[in-house]
Amino acid sequence: MALERTLSIVKPDGVQKNLIGEVYRRFEQAGLRVVAARMMQLSQAQAEGFYAVHRERPFFKDLVKYMVSGPVMVQVLEGENAVSKNRELMGATDPKKADKGTIRADLAASIEENVVHGSDSVENAKNEIAYFFAAADLCPRTR
Ligand code: ATP
Ligand code: MG
Repeated sequence: MALERTLSIVKPDGVQKNLIGEVYRRFEQAGLRVVAARMMQLSQAQAEGFYAVHRERPFFKDLVKYMVSGPVMVQVLEGENAVSKNRELMGATDPKKADKGTIRADLAASIEENVVHGSDSVENAKNEIAYFFAAADLCPRTR
């Protein structure tokens, strides 16, 4: 087992539907600890930069429009295998294909409005955390 950190976002639909607490409850129940958090309204440039890997995809424009449509809650989660554990809690991108009991199966409206983002690798997690947080913003739990 490896102690990891991952970047999580409660997306605009999740914030709008008052699901921040419900999503955090699931993180905490699974043993993931919130070590940094910030609510923010993403700018167009921030959203485009964050999802730059998808810029050639047909859904990119709509994805960015959705991500700037309201405030998001951005957090760093820490725990054993945090990256894959968070992806398991989230479920598949398309809520119709997500396993029952996952965040997206239980709470998401569509493949686009799917409540949460989570880093998909340890390497991407490092870059995504640095995209939103300075090292001094993180409060690791050592006890
Ligand atoms: P995320 O990166 O947000 O955690 P993911 O890794 O499950 O989601 P990606 O393939 O990285 O899925 O897609 C990023 C986001 O783009 C999705 O979460 C969703 O909001 C949107 N998206 C992905 N595929 C589609 C699609 N076919 N149509 C519309 N939106 C999509
Ligand atoms: Mg992704």
